[in-house]
Amino acid sequence: MSSKFWKLGIIGWPLGYSLSPKMHAAALKAAGLQGEYKEYPVKPEDLERWLETEAPKLDGFNVTMPHKEAVFRWLASREGADPVARSIGAVNTVSVKDGKLIGHNSDAEGFWAPLKKRRSPFLLVKWRVLLLGAGGAARAIASVFSLRAAAREMAVWSRTFQSAERLVEETKKLRKEMPASAVKDLNSIQVEKFDVIVNATPSGMANEGEVPMAVTSRLRRGQVVYDLVYEPKETELILAAQKAGCKVITGDEMLAAQGAAAFEIWTKVPAAKVLPAMKKVLDDHFAARS
Ligand code: NAP
Repeated sequence: MSSKFWKLGIIGWPLGYSLSPKMHAAALKAAGLQGEYKEYPVKPEDLERWLETEAPKLDGFNVTMPHKEAVFRWLASREGADPVARSIGAVNTVSVKDGKLIGHNSDAEGFWAPLKKRRSPFLLVKWRVLLLGAGGAARAIASVFSLRAAAREMAVWSRTFQSAERLVEETKKLRKEMPASAVKDLNSIQVEKFDVIVNATPSGMANEGEVPMAVTSRLRRGQVVYDLVYEPKETELILAAQKAGCKVITGDEMLAAQGAAAFEIWTKVPAAKVLPAMKKVLDDHFAARS
């Protein structure tokens, strides 16, 4: 066992109940490393001071709401954001090397890893994607479909049409020929034709409403339905997708994969080595709830 003691953590405000400390404690153990993963509640007005004085003392940390964009801007102005974080415009993982902070975004890899597993290696057809939501997570997903998976078509719908239009514009900056469009009315599109449908809104969580019926009532066998929501794990969308014979990916898979990707960024331990331990923490958490 190496003698290094890894100082890891998460910043956000307020820091409610987060599964990250348990997930990363399990990852440290699975990797045979010594260390800690602590919660750092940092108010927006204290963020710069914390980044300047406290962050350099750590080896790495996650960034959660509401700091993802502010940390990106702070790091980008110091040439401290990697290409993935720059393509998304947000940072959820920071590595610290000799006191220098580098911003990353493991949501893109966390989203992509479970989806990649579902793609048959024999089926090299590019996907048609319907993306619900246009916030931070949707930006990471749009970057995956424009830069990594090169979707054949991407339709973006959000509660606020202007948000969807803005995301489409940003996506076209990443890949000029990206066939992306904003959807105003879900009833006006053919939901059945999409290969992958992603919910990147909080719809499905308590008090956040549900994914519109225009989607859930028109799912068909064979589609991949990917819900980022993980509380609850089985949302109305996932239940409707199972009933329609779709392949489903629940939000806990992305949660574990983005955590394992962050852990690899900090420690260089391959994500695959710690993923089962992180996934087990989530499985135990959801089993205790049901
Ligand atoms: P965000 O930046 O706040 O964006 C939220 C998006 O959803 C926006 O497009 C917003 O529309 C829309 N929206 C907000 N509340 C809504 C509601 N009640 N009904 C319908 N649409 C609504 O949030 P985010 O960081 O992208 O996260 C989105 C969801 O993904 C959250 O539930 C989060 O927990 C989940 N997530 C999961 C993972 C994972 O690892 N599984 C990772 C990241 C995020 P407007 O344009 O109108 O504001």
